[in-house]
Amino acid sequence: MSCHPSTFEIGNPDFTLGILGAGQLGRMLALAARRMNVRTVVWTGGLEAPAVELANHVIDKPFDDPEARREFCATATLATVEFENIPRETLDSVSRCMQLFPSPDAIAICQNRAREKSFLREHGIPCTWFAVVSSVEELAAAMKELNGPGVLKTAAFGYDGKGQVKLDGKEDPVAVWAAFEADRAVLEGFVPFEKELSVMVARGSDGTMVTYDPAENRHRHHILDVSIIPARVSDEVSRQAQEIAKSVAAALDYRGILGVEFFLLPNGTLLVNEMAPRPHNSGHHTINACATSQFEQQLRAVCGLPLGSTRLLSPVVMLNLLGDMWPAETILPDWTPIFEDGETFLHLYGKRRAIGRRKMGHVNVLGATAEDCLKRAEALKSLLLEQAKRS
Ligand code: AMP
Repeated sequence: MSCHPSTFEIGNPDFTLGILGAGQLGRMLALAARRMNVRTVVWTGGLEAPAVELANHVIDKPFDDPEARREFCATATLATVEFENIPRETLDSVSRCMQLFPSPDAIAICQNRAREKSFLREHGIPCTWFAVVSSVEELAAAMKELNGPGVLKTAAFGYDGKGQVKLDGKEDPVAVWAAFEADRAVLEGFVPFEKELSVMVARGSDGTMVTYDPAENRHRHHILDVSIIPARVSDEVSRQAQEIAKSVAAALDYRGILGVEFFLLPNGTLLVNEMAPRPHNSGHHTINACATSQFEQQLRAVCGLPLGSTRLLSPVVMLNLLGDMWPAETILPDWTPIFEDGETFLHLYGKRRAIGRRKMGHVNVLGATAEDCLKRAEALKSLLLEQAKRS
C-alpha cells in the first residue's frame, strides 16, 4: 500500500510527514515536527504558504497537478492535512499511495456543510435545525418550514462567516436565491446562543481518545478574536462538550486531531455547529498552556504513537493578531507591550503583507485566572488597534 515501507519512527531521517496544505496550521505542525527531527513535505495547492519556511521540502503546485502528486508520493511516508478544502480526488490518490490520516471520508464529511450536518443528524449528535437546499423551490419550502430567523450557508468552501447570509424569515426566497452565489446550500435555524465553545479531540490508532478543556470563543467581524480557556461554563457543560466531541470523533472513525465547534444555549443545551478535521485556531493556546500542543498531538495521532496529556497548565487567553492591527501592510506593530508582559507569548506566521483582516499571528496570554488573562488580552488588543489607527 505504501510507496515507502519504512517505519514512522520519530527522528528517522527516512521518515517524512506529508502535509496537504501549507498555511499557518501546517507551519506550526512543521515546527512541532522539527523539534523531534521529523522531516516534513508540504504541498501548497498554489495557495499562500506560511509553512514553506519550516518544511524540509515544498511542492508549490495546485492540488490537481499530477506531477505534484507524484512528487508528494515519492517524498512523503505518511500524510495528513492542515486544510480541509482539498479536492476529493487528491485525497483519494494520496491515500492510494500512502496512509492518510484523517481518512478521505472523514475529511470529505467535514469539508461540506450539507454532508456534515446530515452526518450529525444521522448519528444523533445534537445540532440546529437545518435543510439542504439546491433550488429556489427547496429554499422556499425550507424557509416555510423554519418559519423564523435562519442563516443560509454555502455547502462548500465556507469559513469565517464567508458565504453566509442571515435571514429574518420574511424575505422573498426568489431574491435570496438569486443573490446567493452557490448552487447548494444549507439553511440553518438561527441559534440564540449564549456562548460559542470548541473542543479539540484527538483519536489515536487504537481508538483511544483525549480531549482538551473547552475553549470559549468570541469573534470580531466573524473571525475568531479571543479564545478563553478554561471556558467560563459549568463543569457539567464542559464534560458534556467533551463527551459530544468524542462521540463525533468515534462516529467518524477518526484518526488525528479534530476541532468541534458548539453553540451553548442559555438553558445549557449544546449544539454542534461544525467540525474541523485538523488543528484549529481555538487550539493555539495549547502551545504554551497545555502539556501537549495540538500540533504535537496531531503528529502523535497520525504516527500511531500514544497520545500526550492534554492537561491545562495555566489559564490562558489566545488573542488573534489580525491584519487590522498592523500600521500598514508591510509595517510591523510595536511589540513592546507584548514583550513587557512576561507571561504573553508571540506567534507570527511570517505573512509578508497585512491585507485586510488576514490572520497574521496570535498571542497566548497566561495568568492566574481566565479573567485576568482576558483583561490583559483585551488591553493588548486595544493598544495594537489604536497604534494601527494612529499611523
Ligand atoms: P460558521 O462559519 O458556521 O462557523 O459561522 C460563523 C459564525 O456565524 C459562527 O461562529 C456564529 O457566530 C455565527 N453563526 C453561524 N451559524 C449560526 C446559526 N445557525 N445561528 C446563529 N449564529 C450562527
